[in-house]
Amino acid sequence: MENQKIAVVTGALGGIGTAITQKLVENNYFVIAVASPRRTEADFDTWCNQSNINPKFVTPLFLDVTDAQACNNSLESIIDKHGKVDVLVNNAGITRDSSFKKMNAQQWHEVIDTNLNSMFNMTQPLFAHMCSNKSGRIINISSVNGQKGQFGQANYAAAKAGMIGFSKSLAYEGARAGVTVNVVAPGYTETPMVAKMREDVLESIKAQVPMQRLATPLEVAETVSFLASEGAAYITGETLALNGGLYMN
Ligand code: NDP
Repeated sequence: MENQKIAVVTGALGGIGTAITQKLVENNYFVIAVASPRRTEADFDTWCNQSNINPKFVTPLFLDVTDAQACNNSLESIIDKHGKVDVLVNNAGITRDSSFKKMNAQQWHEVIDTNLNSMFNMTQPLFAHMCSNKSGRIINISSVNGQKGQFGQANYAAAKAGMIGFSKSLAYEGARAGVTVNVVAPGYTETPMVAKMREDVLESIKAQVPMQRLATPLEVAETVSFLASEGAAYITGETLALNGGLYMN
């Protein structure tokens, strides 16, 4: 379709990524749904079905976001095929929690590679192209723990805080071209990532949140959708926190 807006979403098949993809499709985007190479076409079909996403408006891209060369090659092909990318959502992420005394180099590097270096790998091939198009939205999914720190998450908090510094810096570089770069920093959100936590830990987290509940993936997706919208054209370098009052910056 002429003038169809194109969005690239990493971690699209995950908890928050699914809601972001649903929302962008609802907003008439065509979404390139980036999934890890662990996933298959069959997983993608099942996901479309279960998430009520019309496969006409979404295509899978099986890509390891830690692989810079693969990201570069894939994104160049996307630009060749679609002519442009309007929105990039860097959402893929993992946790490898451990107190720092026990944290090994692998836990550190896996988290930095997947949560922070991936943002470089995905943004670098698209940024110059967005600037020459004089339009683009880059939305990076950080975390409340990147803002306030968290016991056992030195690796994760470092990566998530790094996303904020990166976004402020890139916002300067994109501003004249109308390319905005923003961060969404959710608090604990009802997704498979959080479902892996122990029930008692989760209950104690909820108890600390002034709103006494977790965020929903839809609430995160609504914030992303706003930042991608025309109405948010003058917002750049900003971090929108979505944490029920857990941390007020
Ligand atoms: P999920 O685990 O549900 O989704 C994360 C996604 O990242 C998965 O779909 C996974 O792909 C993808 N991914 C991981 N490694 C790679 C890789 N090397 N290459 C490509 N894709 C990869 O987590 P959430 O939806 O909960 O989290 C989404 C984002 O939100 C993350 O960045 C997370 O840190 C952040 N966040 C989450 C919060 C929460 O409470 N849930 C709170 C604050 C922030 P695959 O499924 O194919 O393995």
